[in-house]
Amino acid sequence: MPIDATQPYDDQNIFAKILRGEIPSKKVHEDDHALAFHDINPQAPHHILVIPKGPYVSWDDFSARASEAEIAGFVRAVGKVARDLGFVEPGYRLLANVGLNGHQEVPHLHIHLFAGRPLGPMLA
Ligand code: C5P
Repeated sequence: MPIDATQPYDDQNIFAKILRGEIPSKKVHEDDHALAFHDINPQAPHHILVIPKGPYVSWDDFSARASEAEIAGFVRAVGKVARDLGFVEPGYRLLANVGLNGHQEVPHLHIHLFAGRPLGPMLA
């Protein structure tokens, strides 16, 4: 079920548990600001989720409250994951779902990174 992106942060959400190591994930990258792991239900040959380490519900929450260092660190991590996995050529797609109409299901910001096939025109 999609979530309301204006809700307070719930530290029992599944990605908070992954960050704390309470639930396993197939990790591809970790640094001070971000964790990246394989999506359990991949929608492309490569489907990675990149999440910030701080407690942010959504892109909206992160862009409003995160520090400059967190924002810079997270954005750089997303780019680094794509580069390190060899996605830059022939390309990839980033996506962040926000709130009810965006069909965001997990209330911890995550950027979807899709790669490995031509992804076609963007679906609205
Ligand atoms: O953007 P949205 O919130 O809809 O996406 C949540 C994503 O988290 C889904 O792609 C789902 O497969 C993934 N997921 C996961 N591991 C979990 C729970 C959800 O990779 N334990």
